[in-house]
Amino acid sequence: MAVLDNLIAGAWRPSLTGQTYVKRPPSAPDRVLAEVPAAGHEDVAAAVEAAVEAFPAWRRTPAAKRGEALAATAELVRSRAEEIARTVSLETGKPLTESRGELVRGASILRFYAGEGRRATGERFEQGSGGAVYTQRRPLGAVALITPWNFPVAIPLWKLAPALAYGNTAVLKLASDAPLTGLALARCFADAGLPDGVLNVITGSGSVCGSALVESEGIAALSFTGSVEVGRELRVLTAERGVHAQLELGGHSPLIVTADADLEAAVEGAFRGAYASQGQKCTATRRMYVDDSVYVTFRDRLLARIESAKLGDPLQPGTEIGPLVNESQLRTVLAAIERSRREGGRLLAGGVHRPEHGHLVEPALFEGLGDEAFVSREEVFGPVAALYRFADLDEAIRRANATRFGLSAAIYTRDLSSARRFAAELDAGVLHVNSPTAGADPHVPFGGLKGSGWGPHEQGRAALEFFTDSVTVYEDA
Ligand code: NAP
Repeated sequence: MAVLDNLIAGAWRPSLTGQTYVKRPPSAPDRVLAEVPAAGHEDVAAAVEAAVEAFPAWRRTPAAKRGEALAATAELVRSRAEEIARTVSLETGKPLTESRGELVRGASILRFYAGEGRRATGERFEQGSGGAVYTQRRPLGAVALITPWNFPVAIPLWKLAPALAYGNTAVLKLASDAPLTGLALARCFADAGLPDGVLNVITGSGSVCGSALVESEGIAALSFTGSVEVGRELRVLTAERGVHAQLELGGHSPLIVTADADLEAAVEGAFRGAYASQGQKCTATRRMYVDDSVYVTFRDRLLARIESAKLGDPLQPGTEIGPLVNESQLRTVLAAIERSRREGGRLLAGGVHRPEHGHLVEPALFEGLGDEAFVSREEVFGPVAALYRFADLDEAIRRANATRFGLSAAIYTRDLSSARRFAAELDAGVLHVNSPTAGADPHVPFGGLKGSGWGPHEQGRAALEFFTDSVTVYEDA
């Protein structure tokens, strides 16, 4: 069993509270993976102090040099990718192929922002009276980053890379269910020579060290990814204190399949969208609206695809569906399946707990659920999706938009005008035409509308908007 330490002011150390918690692997929950520091208020204070102290020197470090630190970190992430990918699979249950993909993406995010720091440009104008006037971008200070467990590489990195590239320092609070991966990434930054205190990483309960971090006086901004419920609380807390906030929250992504769609591609897109990472993605496909005329064909092919899915140990190459992250998620998912049955849904496939694989639940597919049913409206963070028939595109778009979420959506169609209408009218921050609802490139913005997000989006140039202030300078000779 590993004993983990937090990274504060360049030193690896246990929690000042002396407290720890135990992290178990979801595929074998009787085993213990690691003893993890349970950070308290004292640790948060030390981490914030370190980030505040490191800020003046880091903001004055040339952007090119800050970029070099990110590029060196990217190289270490790349060279340690296999080891970290195995850690991701072991601690979250994500199939190894997906974990490997996440590591490739993580290194790519770091490489992208290694160059972006130099592009934090403003605009130059002439004053009304003739002198120069220009805008410039400035870092905010010490920022708080709070991340979920489901993308333990990509999400910490898509916050950290722009935050540091633009000259901020950071305190990163990792999810309790994914401390090993986050600390392995922290080690890459430290080994790449990032100056002490620029990045501080703590582990422990959200309600203790997470909220202490958000309430900390030294913090200039909060970037949070997680559930709608916690996000709502943090929105109020940060607004009261006038702290910049970027909140990326839950989703309930719809997928539309029109009569002329390439059904083979649509079935694979639906399967991957709904069940990759066991449906534990904010962008996972929850609702599939299928044109009446192809509904039966689509449904039967999707059932065959589910039937062929390889379930089991996430570390075995070829596994497509692994276990859910923890016992509480397992109970929530099974309860939602049971409730859907009571609400009149026909369970066409899966939904069964397979204890020989830890917290694994077979991918569940419903039909016959009404638009008001629980899983038609609420995010069940697991491998549960439902099919609905539609008569025309107006109906599909109206029903696809009828939730409080607006993160991502997809359409499979060969008709350009259907694709254009979808792109114009679907209320979501990320739209896919002929690709699954999940996916995010580092060079373009990612974020949700409606209840799925708050504040500037992440990644691409949107990150510049969040992680810097704009200042206007009047310059006379
Ligand atoms: P969560 O329970 O909201 O936790 C997210 C993070 O917040 C964790 O680090 C958690 O710590 C911490 N936290 C919990 N309570 C807190 C509090 N009162 N103050 C400060 N921090 C607190 O979410 P999750 O279960 O980890 O992740 C799943 C959710 O994230 C889903 O709703 C999913 O849709 C959403 N998500 C959204 C995106 C996106 O980009 N929109 C991406 C991925 C996931 P602990 O781990 O210690 O509880």
